[in-house]
Amino acid sequence: MSETTTDLETFRRETRAWLQANCPSEMRRPAKTEADICWGGKRFKYQSEAQRLWLQRMGERGWTVPMWPRAYGGGGLDHAQAAILREEMAALKCRVPLQSFGIWMLGPALLKYGSEQQKRHYLRQIARGEIRWCQGYSEPNAGSDLASLATKAEVHEDHFLVNGQKIWTSYADEADWMFCLVRTDTAKKHTGISFILIDMTTPGVSTRPIKLISGKSPFCETFFDNVKVPSSQIVGELNAGWTIAKYLLTHEREMIGGIGERSLPTPVGRFAAERIGRDPAGRLDDPVLRAEIARFEVDEAAFSAWTKLVGAQARGGEAHPAVSSALKYYGTELNKRRWELMAAAGGADALEWEGARSQDGTIARTWLRTKGNSIEGGTSEVQLNVVAKRILGLPGA
Ligand SMILES: Cc1cc2nc3c(=O)[nH]c(=O)nc-3n(C[C@H](O)[C@H](O)[C@H](O)COP(=O)(O)OP(=O)(O)OC[C@H]3O[C@@H](n4cnc5c(N)ncnc54)[C@H](O)[C@@H]3O)c2cc1C
Repeated sequence: MSETTTDLETFRRETRAWLQANCPSEMRRPAKTEADICWGGKRFKYQSEAQRLWLQRMGERGWTVPMWPRAYGGGGLDHAQAAILREEMAALKCRVPLQSFGIWMLGPALLKYGSEQQKRHYLRQIARGEIRWCQGYSEPNAGSDLASLATKAEVHEDHFLVNGQKIWTSYADEADWMFCLVRTDTAKKHTGISFILIDMTTPGVSTRPIKLISGKSPFCETFFDNVKVPSSQIVGELNAGWTIAKYLLTHEREMIGGIGERSLPTPVGRFAAERIGRDPAGRLDDPVLRAEIARFEVDEAAFSAWTKLVGAQARGGEAHPAVSSALKYYGTELNKRRWELMAAAGGADALEWEGARSQDGTIARTWLRTKGNSIEGGTSEVQLNVVAKRILGLPGA
């Protein structure tokens, strides 16, 4: 690394000053509802001028994607600088300006496999939150066995003609574009798949929301009826999409697994003690729950330490290529335990579904939502299969 400690201290000072001057005070308070989370895109309704301004300022500086190259709208920071930016944002309680499938999933795939023209065209728009993406992978008969996908793209001279159906497409009804796996050769399984980008306003694309147990409809069925997609919107080579799909999945799994690290503003133990009360020694007055919470908090700390270790290994090019499956498995299962404990500690109150007291059933709804985390991006069982085979070297079933 080229910087000296003095360089980094200067960077920290300048970063802090910039954040203080540019992060609106409203964006330094924790997000309370989903509307406080900024997803960007052409159809996004900003909650406030502060939310819009914060995204605009961070996007212009490249700090929505601090480590992407400047040429593609990123901040061009190295690991040490990016870590400082994260620390300074946390110290000032700055909200993350943009949540985005473009940043977490498509961006890394385009950086590795996209043409120069695609990188220049899409990455800057992703960094600035100008376009919102959805992921067209799963189909009614292709989930865990994703390579069975059947949505067909006929190859024509200057375009693909797409017909078929995707399912569980998160935010398909709010996205501007989809990164999509299509079958371009029916004779082969893995080597008959291509990775294409589809403008959701193209004639023939339609979506139908699916209602979840949590009462929300964050995902859809997506239908393609003779959808014409220009040939230039293929990423990589024809029939070589499976490699890109798998690479993107490692980023998705890492991102979802990070949920395990997301400890709550009020730790579970303190929340439980406030609800249930303390014994004369000042401990949570429920020895069984106390033991469970203690086990959870130890595991939470261990997971956090492990993700840091994996991060350092990745920077040194030493991380196991399948480690994202282990992170995803453990992080999502840990988060399920976190919310089981929150529900147990909250007692009957935690079952409330609506009303100001429970902030419209935050605990109940989050508890239900965590179930989906260990399914999306590949189920826990599938991640365990990957860990068994690729990391532990156990024989396949
Ligand atoms: C909240 C949420 C958001 C999602 N968002 C998207 C999205 O944006 N885009 C998208 O394309 N998809 C999305 N998905 C779909 C998700 O990727 C699939 O649900 C997932 O891959 C599992 O596929 P499936 O639902 O078809 O289940 P199946 O593959 O039918 O699995 C059913 C059960 O069988 C088990 N199973 C299957 N195969 C094996 C095996 N080999 N060994 C052991 N057990 C096995 C599974 O673990 C599971 O318990 C989302 C899902 C959820 C829950």
